Amino acid sequence: MKEAVQNLLDTASSEVSGLGDDPKALDQARVKFLGRKGELAQLFKELGRVPEQERREAGRILNEAKAKLEAIFSDALEDSRKLAAGKREPIDVTVPGRVPRRGRLHPITQVALEITRIFNWLGFETVEGPEIELDYYNFEALNIPKDHPAREMQDTFYISEDVVLRTHTSPIQIRTMEKRRPPIRVIAPGRTYRCDSDVTHTPMFHQVEGLMVGKGVSFGDLKGVLTTFVHQMFGPDVGLRFRPSFFPFTEPSAEVDIQCVMCRGQGCRVCSQTGWLEILGSGMVDPEVYKYVGYDPEEVTGFAFGMGIERIAMLKFGIDDLRLFFENDLRFLNHF
Ligand SMILES: [Zn+2]
Repeated sequence: MKEAVQNLLDTASSEVSGLGDDPKALDQARVKFLGRKGELAQLFKELGRVPEQERREAGRILNEAKAKLEAIFSDALEDSRKLAAGKREPIDVTVPGRVPRRGRLHPITQVALEITRIFNWLGFETVEGPEIELDYYNFEALNIPKDHPAREMQDTFYISEDVVLRTHTSPIQIRTMEKRRPPIRVIAPGRTYRCDSDVTHTPMFHQVEGLMVGKGVSFGDLKGVLTTFVHQMFGPDVGLRFRPSFFPFTEPSAEVDIQCVMCRGQGCRVCSQTGWLEILGSGMVDPEVYKYVGYDPEEVTGFAFGMGIERIAMLKFGIDDLRLFFENDLRFLNHF
């Protein structure tokens, strides 16, 4: 046994030294000697035939041989790695380093921040609400009961009968009024969802909701705040107009148009030759809504408004396809 082991070790050493720095051949040789069916394993099998009184010693010799073989191969592998590293090109320390590219905020984020900044400056506090919303907050408490035709205007993602992906940021109005007492001045940006997809609609989009409630808040306040916003956002020379409209949770309601930013009111394809572009919906909070949050409509009045952030961004940056904002092509995003 002793002799066979010594033979094995000698053969392994000489074979390994003949392999140079070829790691693949080295691995094959390792399997040949140390593998499960390798030469050492064969010797271990013969252990059974060794007379009992010598078996212990033979086992010790075999285990020792195993450790030696393993050392031979690991040393050879280490040497081959060092050789390979030496062959690689030396490092040129004079080559200039790669400067990491600086990221920037997505245009939608930029516009959302700009909108909230303007309203914060006007004294509105930023608040948020959940994207997965109860039907109660998304519709019912906003004066849109189950059979209301306004529900059909919004293609809603229903999670269950009572739970939806919010279709607008307006539920935040209710959540805020539930928690606080007037005076209230809040601005609430967030993601909203509708089953809709074309050049001007995406299933997920962003809105900003605004709400001001207090003693003696009037339609004049609404006009003042929104006019200031438009002038801050689009410039002091941009004209705007308030057009009567309908929303279930405001009365009276008005949509706000601004002079077309493309043609400056002359009439073009973007504004369908009207010279005007709609940017937001607004109105005085309907007294019905106050009943849901326990406010007395005789005591307080207020206004609310909501706008699409993508819409504002498209007008501000002169972009005519909404989907560009969601493809995240860096060539497009780098323009901003
Ligand atoms: Zn135009």
